[in-house]
Amino acid sequence: MVDKIKEVFQLTDKGAKGLIKASVSTVFSYISYMLPLMFVMYFIRDLLMGNLKTPMLYVFMILGIAVVMYMFLYVNYNTLYTETYRESKNLRIDIANILKELPLSYFSRHDVSDLAQTIMKDVEAIEHALSHAIPQAIGLILFLIIVCISMLANNFKMALAIILPVIISFVLLLLSKRMQVYGSTKYYNQLRVNSDKFQEAIELQQEIRSYNQGYKVREDLLWEMDKSEKIHITSEFSQALPLLLSSTILKFALGFIILFGTNLYINGDISLLYFLGYVIGSAKIVFTTEGLYENIGEIMYLDARINRIRELRNTEIQKGERVDIKTYDIEIKDVEFSYNEATKVIDGISFVAKQDEVTAIVGPSGCGKTTVLRLMSRLYDYDKGSLFIGGNEIMKIDTDSLFDKISIVFQDVMLFNTSIMENIRMGNKEATDEEVKEAARLANCTDFIKNLPQGYETVIGENGSNLSGGERQRISIARAILKNAPIILLDEISASLDVENEMQIQNSLNSLIKNKTVVIISHRLKSVENADKIVVMNNGKIDSIGKHKDLLKKSKLYKNMIEKSNITESYLY
Ligand code: ADP
Repeated sequence: MVDKIKEVFQLTDKGAKGLIKASVSTVFSYISYMLPLMFVMYFIRDLLMGNLKTPMLYVFMILGIAVVMYMFLYVNYNTLYTETYRESKNLRIDIANILKELPLSYFSRHDVSDLAQTIMKDVEAIEHALSHAIPQAIGLILFLIIVCISMLANNFKMALAIILPVIISFVLLLLSKRMQVYGSTKYYNQLRVNSDKFQEAIELQQEIRSYNQGYKVREDLLWEMDKSEKIHITSEFSQALPLLLSSTILKFALGFIILFGTNLYINGDISLLYFLGYVIGSAKIVFTTEGLYENIGEIMYLDARINRIRELRNTEIQKGERVDIKTYDIEIKDVEFSYNEATKVIDGISFVAKQDEVTAIVGPSGCGKTTVLRLMSRLYDYDKGSLFIGGNEIMKIDTDSLFDKISIVFQDVMLFNTSIMENIRMGNKEATDEEVKEAARLANCTDFIKNLPQGYETVIGENGSNLSGGERQRISIARAILKNAPIILLDEISASLDVENEMQIQNSLNSLIKNKTVVIISHRLKSVENADKIVVMNNGKIDSIGKHKDLLKKSKLYKNMIEKSNITESYLY
């Protein structure tokens, strides 16, 4: 049972046990609500039979009932809230641990805002449902079953007269809620499409205006909004009818039992006491069912949220052990890889990037160069072949050990919205301010940092939005210099630098890459002519490997690329 609950609500072991405790205590607290009713029935019976006991006995009974009710409610409150808040803490920690273990490929395949939603909003919703809807619903259902059985046992006809309408109303409610969940999911998906379109229209204003696309964009937006309005109206209508029927039947159920009961009473089939008892019991069933309806709605909406957590849990994590990597040759053997099953992006490549050497990967755009760097750093795991670092198979190295030894400078630099000092210090948390400044000097950052309002303490805006592409790039190089890892992977780092910057950075790169395993991708072939080894790639395969001069002789593709790049460099506007 614990396992089933864990799976259905995606809870931890403790959470599932807590939920069972909370549900059982809810049943007991509902049963305790029946005690005053039983007391009234007992009192009326004594009154009608002229058999009243001493007033003190009734006073003691009332006090006893109050104490029992207080105890049940106290236990219920404690189990509901303490267990819930403990579980939501555990759930958040559990999800954070899962995120830590997920392969980075997961983040590139999923919307980051969806992930944030899972952690914050989904856990919050589950927390609320755990402390309210779920145990109450389970408690209410068990309570209803108990009340119904005891009513059926005493007077079958009267019991059926209330139970049948309640069941019909309940089925209709489930139908309406299903439709509501289906309709609103469709509606929210459409709202997401709308907001994406709006965002695109705002971000691309410059292009829209310069290519005179305003009319088309407006048409598109109106069409999407029309669509969302239609979906909204259809979903409201489809759920309204069963909902209306359900609540009408429930409301009429009470009137029905009074009519039916009066008829039985007049015919002498039941006593007045039973009649009153059943009317009061039926009222309890109706109100309890109404309470249950509110909870059911909340639980049904939980489905999508629970599925998101389930998907997160079911994602295969990157396994590996802590390995002390001692040497730093990177050896790739017959490696194959595809982002999705349809196309093989890397198709059986083999080469070695040696320690203390610069290995350059060149080739036409889209041939798989960046993907090779991603495989070398385990951002993605390859499908076939093998990849060794210092003789250790990369799939067996945990990502923490790997990233201790690798610095990557990508074309798109990501910066945190904090000070320049802290952004560079990410390369090495232990570094002193002086060491950070030295790294910045080596990466030619000093000049632009000096001109910022608070120098190194300037907060640089979300993702470095207050800096130019070249400046962001130099900060990421400073980070890599500070990290001083033995393996350096550089992906098109000159793409966002101007010529002057590039020359300056070339000097600092030389100090960064000395005595290291360096793998570099550059579309500026001139900058890699001196590399110890150049790997020419084409369509996910290796065309040829060698030094610049050999390749000019043996690789047609390389020769072609060099010629084209010479033309580009001498191009005049
Ligand atoms: P290069 O660096 O040589 O320009 P890439 O390694 O970036 O080439 O890309 C190789 C191929 O893989 C391209 O066809 C590209 O569209 C595809 N690709 C790159 N990244 C992804 C991704 N995250 N998901 C799916 N396909 C991708």
